[in-house]
Amino acid sequence: MRTADQLIHPIATRRDYEAGTVPIDASAWPPAELPAPWPALEHDIETDVLVIGAGLAGTSVALHLAERSVQTVILEAAQPGNGASGRNAGHVQPWLDGLASLASWPDRGTRLLETFVRERNIVFDLCRRHHIDADEAPTGIVQTATSRSKSLEDLAGNWRARGLQVESVGSSQLHELLGTRRYRHGVHWREGGRVNPFRFTQGMAAAAARHGVRVHGDSPVVSCTRAGERWLVRTNRASVHAARIVLCTNGHAGNAFFPGMVRSGYPLVACGLATAPLPPSLLEVINPSRAAFAQVPTGLYPMVVDGRGRLVTATIPAPRQADRPERYFEAFLRYIHRTWPESRAASIEPGWYWTGMTSSTSATLHADFPGLYQIADGVVGLMNLGTWGNVMGPLLGHNVAQALAEERPQDFVLPLRTPRAVRFPRLFEFKIRHLLVPAARWADRVWAS
Ligand SMILES: Cc1cc2nc3c(=O)[nH]c(=O)nc-3n(C[C@H](O)[C@H](O)[C@H](O)COP(=O)(O)OP(=O)(O)OC[C@H]3O[C@@H](n4cnc5c(N)ncnc54)[C@H](O)[C@@H]3O)c2cc1C
Repeated sequence: MRTADQLIHPIATRRDYEAGTVPIDASAWPPAELPAPWPALEHDIETDVLVIGAGLAGTSVALHLAERSVQTVILEAAQPGNGASGRNAGHVQPWLDGLASLASWPDRGTRLLETFVRERNIVFDLCRRHHIDADEAPTGIVQTATSRSKSLEDLAGNWRARGLQVESVGSSQLHELLGTRRYRHGVHWREGGRVNPFRFTQGMAAAAARHGVRVHGDSPVVSCTRAGERWLVRTNRASVHAARIVLCTNGHAGNAFFPGMVRSGYPLVACGLATAPLPPSLLEVINPSRAAFAQVPTGLYPMVVDGRGRLVTATIPAPRQADRPERYFEAFLRYIHRTWPESRAASIEPGWYWTGMTSSTSATLHADFPGLYQIADGVVGLMNLGTWGNVMGPLLGHNVAQALAEERPQDFVLPLRTPRAVRFPRLFEFKIRHLLVPAARWADRVWAS
């Protein structure tokens, strides 16, 4: 049996863990044998639209452009899904939080909300339509609370009024769904669920390629300059002449070629961990309904049970301790033992530990709606998706592609922002990593003792 500290990747440094750039095979989501790499760009080419960055956002933009017969190329610095998209917690969330912050948008967020309601199942729809095998499962999501939560009930009521299937549940229903008597209150979203985000992102890249997109991995963009009416985009080996560019590099990474975007968001490192597959007897006890689940208000142990019977969770590492898997695994195990006392007799082994980097538009939690930027003439950026990428990436990618293909920027559901460097890019991380999460961990320990 491996101990949690042995989950440190043999070639990763502490800096890699802090930057969320540990090799992707540290993540639980890629298959044991990584897919064949997409080839690097070796020759100069031309295209109508160039998408830079192949995460959930970029692959969706490219796929939906290609479906509309727009000539498209993807340049990805590493391989599709190697960024945050292959490292997330696998939750497919069918609702949005923080709707109050939409009030300042020109249309008060109406178009985003209408589109979200219409396309909230886009992950499952894309998998079905493009034969993507991403271990996706519409298991629903359960949010649990230890005491009655008015904000949770209001959230559910608000989305029920918009047509979602969601209901408040009490202790006996929660016991039936999750196999634990720990929680008395909760909300059961009968929609949403889980996905393997690495396979999903790779699947969208492959589907885009089947529709004619030229996908190039290992091709970091190093410069973008104007060349007459078009853009000349260079990697170290070759170049692309493109009429239009969509930048999907996740805000914080590798976009120094558009200086306005360099500090456009608030980065936050997050870590994921997965157990080794659990024996079937234990899976009958822990979360028999297989719903994805999260606690309110602390959100400390969001969990999915994946198709291999592994428990996958994510958290925010303690300051300067992103390379301490044993800390987070021990805390997760204590939580599992508390929540399902029957599990104490069983051996739950650590399996995977990794980190990834999110980037948000706001330093206020739940006000961090993704950003759409007018970077230059013919260049837009779909960036800073925060913690909502699994649904927002494909959904907004669809919207951006549609508006670009039809040359109707007025159809963008996000307001078009002018890139601006944020004044204190570390503010969000400070609030979450240094204050909120440590306080939640402390409260969890005190409450549990
Ligand atoms: C631990 C963790 C847990 C999370 N949990 C969830 C969850 O449960 N549900 C959910 O919905 N979201 C979750 N998220 C958030 C979600 O993963 C992100 O919102 C989403 O992946 C962002 O997608 P993206 O395409 O914008 O960025 P990325 O996936 O980071 O893609 C950006 C890509 O751009 C490439 N790139 C950068 N620079 C260059 C360059 N110069 N040239 C070419 N390519 C370049 C990168 O290599 C990368 O592949 C989580 C994130 C983390 C880290």
